[in-house]
Amino acid sequence: MIHTIADTHTHTVVSGHAYSTLTENLKAASERGLRFLGSTEHTGLMPHAAHEYYFTNMGVVPDELFGVHLLRGCEVNIIGNDGELDVSDKILSKLEWVIASMHIPVYQPSDFDGHTSAWMGVLKNPQVDVLGHPGDGRYVFDYETVIKACGEYGKIVEINSHSFGNRPGSTENCRTIALLCKKYGIPVVVNSDAHFWASIGEHTNALRMLEEIDFPEELIVNADYRRFADLITEKTGRIFE
Ligand SMILES: [Zn+2]
Ligand SMILES: [Zn+2]
Repeated sequence: MIHTIADTHTHTVVSGHAYSTLTENLKAASERGLRFLGSTEHTGLMPHAAHEYYFTNMGVVPDELFGVHLLRGCEVNIIGNDGELDVSDKILSKLEWVIASMHIPVYQPSDFDGHTSAWMGVLKNPQVDVLGHPGDGRYVFDYETVIKACGEYGKIVEINSHSFGNRPGSTENCRTIALLCKKYGIPVVVNSDAHFWASIGEHTNALRMLEEIDFPEELIVNADYRRFADLITEKTGRIFE
């Protein structure tokens, strides 16, 4: 049975449509036995999203609370077919974990080629770590081309457990994407996308699907403490025992 030691896509009240505080989320992560929590608020153009000062001031929060390492991140919006984002590289470069996603209020679904070119643009941005909920059926793209290219650009593909049954087409699309990650050896991260503390670490749907397709455990970056800690050290220079 695969298990996860990190949840790297979570929201707090700062996002405007989530219902717990950072402290509540960290406590929930601790109670679930997680070792890392990525706090990744929505940015810029999402209604009531955090101001950029929120992201630049995150250093006031300790690196570790309740035995959980905090990853200071964001979920940045993709806003156009070239993969433009709604936060500057300067701000993103100060963060430890950047997920780029497509959201209805910000980026109206375009078409297959438009979504594909948007993702290809995102891949070329060195500030982005993770492709967020790519299984969303409203933004279908050329899965094979983009997933294969993730290897070249060193990106991680999110398997978003909340998407299953919530974002249209996701159950099937996430499976297709995961099979391509397996085929091309692309790392994935399993996340909850929690908007309330009780969902922190809720990865059941994603893990069940990955087990069904016999997905290699070593490609799940947050399935092993050392593997994940080393990845974060590589990205941030922070050292973890
Ligand atoms: Zn949200
Ligand atoms: Zn999202």
